[in-house]
Amino acid sequence: MIRFDKVTKTYPSQTRPALQNISLEIERGEFVFVIGSSGSGKSTFMRLILREERPTAGRVQVAGKDLAKLTNWKIPQLRRQIGTVFQDFRLLPNKTVEQNVAFALEVIGKSRPVINKAVPEVLDLVGLGGKGGRFPNELSGGEQQRVAIARAFVNRPMVLIADEPTGNLDPETSVGIMKLLDRINRAGTTVVMVTHDQAIVNQMRKRVLELDSGSLVRDQSRGVYGYVR
Ligand code: ADP
Ligand code: ADP
Repeated sequence: MIRFDKVTKTYPSQTRPALQNISLEIERGEFVFVIGSSGSGKSTFMRLILREERPTAGRVQVAGKDLAKLTNWKIPQLRRQIGTVFQDFRLLPNKTVEQNVAFALEVIGKSRPVINKAVPEVLDLVGLGGKGGRFPNELSGGEQQRVAIARAFVNRPMVLIADEPTGNLDPETSVGIMKLLDRINRAGTTVVMVTHDQAIVNQMRKRVLELDSGSLVRDQSRGVYGYVR
């Protein structure tokens, strides 16, 4: 699903690469944690998958497509296949829950009947049935993140990228969010999640990719957060 071949990314203003010679493959249906200290290259890794950045050297492929060969007008098509969830939810404050989720389908040209069917279905799936008429500021943090996940998933993307999705949530709420991401993963969506949450990584026992100063220093299946090399 995602393949990096000897990928190096050096930002124009920098001398040290943000990512250095990364080669890895993430299969369809995998659940992968990306860990590493601040500045280790996690965001850069995600931005390369979304083609928000281009590698300085090497090749990034998503769903069999070499991202360097994507023409600009094909980029929206790629991003449509990749749902994104962030620490700060990024909901539209002036739209209701339903409208936030529907908007994701409107912008890709789905018809009203399709939207009217899909939105309540996905809100039920994330445990927000009955809250479609609320505004984001009327919801708890955990509920807002569920809306963001519903919005990311409503189009059934091949890949879900989650950048510290539990970073603003208490441990109990975080467990609920992880159960939801696990369910989405089991439904077939590949999940790539950046996190600093040791408890979650240790509970889930999924593949762990650890970055350190731009290098991939660990690729461990059923991994844990802290690891003595
Ligand atoms: P992380 O997400 O693990 O904190 P990043 O990928 O954001 O790491 O950053 C990796 C390195 O690249 C850091 O040294 C950071 O300062 C640098 N960097 C990130 N984004 C940019 C940018 N847009 N321009 C210049 N340097 C950047
Ligand atoms: P949590 O379940 O994370 O502890 P809260 O205690 O903040 O969340 O919220 C409990 C319930 O109250 C939720 O269902 C939420 O939708 C509702 N709620 C929270 N804040 C508001 C608000 N400002 N206006 C209306 N409803 C709210």
